[in-house]
This record gives sequence, C-alpha cells and structure tokens, in this order.
Amino acid sequence: MDAGVLRALVELAEPSGAGWAVPLNQEEVGMYVQVSKATVQRTVRRLRGAGLVGKTGRGSLPVPCLPCLAEAQKYGQGVRGCRGDRGCAVRLRRDTEYR
Ligand SMILES: [Zn+2]
Repeated sequence: MDAGVLRALVELAEPSGAGWAVPLNQEEVGMYVQVSKATVQRTVRRLRGAGLVGKTGRGSLPVPCLPCLAEAQKYGQGVRGCRGDRGCAVRLRRDTEYR
C-alpha cells in the first residue's frame, strides 16, 4: 500500500451522494502523487479489499466512508472500512471534522 496514494485519496475526496468520491481516475491520481498507475491500482485494490473504497466508476473513485479512510491513513493497513455504515463509530466520532 502506497502511503502517498492513500494520503492523496484522503485529500482529494469530496462529498458525493451519501458518501464521498475522489473525482479523478487512477491515472490522474498517479500523476498527482507522481507514482505509476500500477502503484495506484495496487493500493486501490488493497483498500477495496478492506472495504475502504468502492468500485471504480467513470473517472471517479467512490469512498463510502472518508473518516474510515483517514483512520487507515493514520493507523495503517489493519483498519477495515465500514463500507458506508451510517452508524460507523469512526464517523460518529469524527463527524464534525468532515461536515
Ligand atoms: Zn466508517
């Protein structure tokens, strides 16, 4: 998991529907962080496995719960996402930060 990619996703995510989304495709994220698209893909795959990002859409990457993604950035790989659960403890704790 690439720390720079993870940091960029947390920085770039913006509110979208019930959750958040990064309004860039993986190639653009790679350009932003200055890593290869393969590095972005690898990190996104890991994050998806942990429920921290959704399925890549057309030019954007859904983030079901930004507080959980930020938590993963802080504490590393062990963190598993809530997949957008409204009752997410991390989200409730950090709600004011992300309004
Ligand atoms: Zn969460």
